[in-house]
Amino acid sequence: MICIPIIDTTTDRVIENMRKASLIADLLEIRVDHVTDPDLEKILSARTKPVIITIMPEYENGSFKGTEEERVSLLKQAVYLGADYVDVNLGCAELKNLIKNRGSAKIIVSYHNFEETPDDLDIIYNKIKSTGADIIKIATSANKLSDNLKILRLVKKRDQDMIGICMGQTGEISRILAPLYGSYLTFASLQKGRESAPGQIPAETLKNIYRINDLNPQCNIYGIIGNPVNKSKGYILHNCLFKLYSLNNIYLNFQVNDLEDFTGNFPDMLSGFSVTMPHKQNIMHYLDKTDPVAEKIGAVNTVVNRDGKLTGYNTDMTGAIKALLSKTEIKNRSVTILGAGGAAKAIASGIIEEGGKLTILNRTVEKADLLAQDLNCNSGPIAEFKKIRTDILINITSVGMHPDTSESPVDTSLVREMVVFDAIYNPAKTRLLKEAEKNNCIIISGMEMFINQSAEQFRLWTGIQPDTNLLRDIMQWN
Ligand code: NAP
Repeated sequence: MICIPIIDTTTDRVIENMRKASLIADLLEIRVDHVTDPDLEKILSARTKPVIITIMPEYENGSFKGTEEERVSLLKQAVYLGADYVDVNLGCAELKNLIKNRGSAKIIVSYHNFEETPDDLDIIYNKIKSTGADIIKIATSANKLSDNLKILRLVKKRDQDMIGICMGQTGEISRILAPLYGSYLTFASLQKGRESAPGQIPAETLKNIYRINDLNPQCNIYGIIGNPVNKSKGYILHNCLFKLYSLNNIYLNFQVNDLEDFTGNFPDMLSGFSVTMPHKQNIMHYLDKTDPVAEKIGAVNTVVNRDGKLTGYNTDMTGAIKALLSKTEIKNRSVTILGAGGAAKAIASGIIEEGGKLTILNRTVEKADLLAQDLNCNSGPIAEFKKIRTDILINITSVGMHPDTSESPVDTSLVREMVVFDAIYNPAKTRLLKEAEKNNCIIISGMEMFINQSAEQFRLWTGIQPDTNLLRDIMQWN
């Protein structure tokens, strides 16, 4: 079940938000500790979905300003008025009494840890169980990705109703996977920017993109590893494709700060994954096999798990070259690449393979020189751009990417009557592309590369070659 917490300051505004949230949520949590004029009777009679009444004290990171007696009195009132669920923190002195006199309400006994995910979760679980709780809630903070596994394992082996969550950006996957493992519910925000806890995902996304109400524990798990990953749009594209092709698969964002923690704990449970910066090179140390193209480029952006053996591929190169070839020939054309990072390496190899005459320009010239040495082509600083002949200009720096969309990697008055490809896909049309278009250039958006490389990833994982027009439509709708 998807539960949306309602956090607002007045009873009337809570009721207004309850109406909106009831359209998508299975149940609502009313955070009464934020309400300055709490009228529980009014709130409970306005419900159209089951509600959890939660009144968190300040010592539990809540906002209730009254005394503990006043808080307990409100909790008792919630039980008396027939709330569907009442959340009582494990440390509440009146917990026993509230459980004994719970009437028709189910008591959720909750443990929160805002610092870490401790190792002794079993002890905490049993302590809560011994109180006679109807539902056990354990919410901890994920400092590393493997903290999610501690919670997921606990949820899987639970012997009574339980809610398990890891909070924080690193804990995001627990909010999606815990319900698949049997968590009683998962918390979601009403909309982006209205999260009641870090890492919460909008309910609309959980329902329509991740399909958590439809998937089952046997589903194949895919995802992207990177740091950061929250700017990636792969979760939209791959989850929509899984839905359209009726596959029991899910694609998640894995915020990986520590690659060893990921490789030591997760690959066995994944059927495949995308890799983004800064892990494209280092992931190669942990693979069983690397495809020759990825080996040559020296970077992997796609991993396939076949019977426990991990094989790395690079779909960035073919994705970019396909996008270019749809608009221009490359052979014998003067191609200037701006950038010498991971993606530049892949695209530069492709340009050489297609017979382009390549120059690599980069802010850090030494990196451009090193790459040019490997590929036997020219290099220099970005300022050289005005001096060199360019038929095809490719930007593979991050300059112009959201949120710095007013920036351009070169003086756009110099960009005239050439083919211009910008690898950035957020925004789909960068300032460089907009101004190049005005100057009679043929432009190619990074979205085309993203679509091509994602289609190839999808084929490697599922054996299905998706129609790229389908991918274009998905990216346009979302
Ligand atoms: P990366 O390895 O971190 O490389 C970043 C590149 O940008 C480096 O050459 C860096 O120069 C340069 N750069 C960063 N800030 C700069 C600035 N202020 N001025 C000038 N140059 C700057 O990243 P990557 O993986 O290669 O990605 C590069 C771009 O390609 C990103 O925008 C990414 O979104 C895009 N990309 C798109 C797709 C797609 O499917 N469309 C796929 C992969 C990547 P230094 O070497 O001097 O630091």
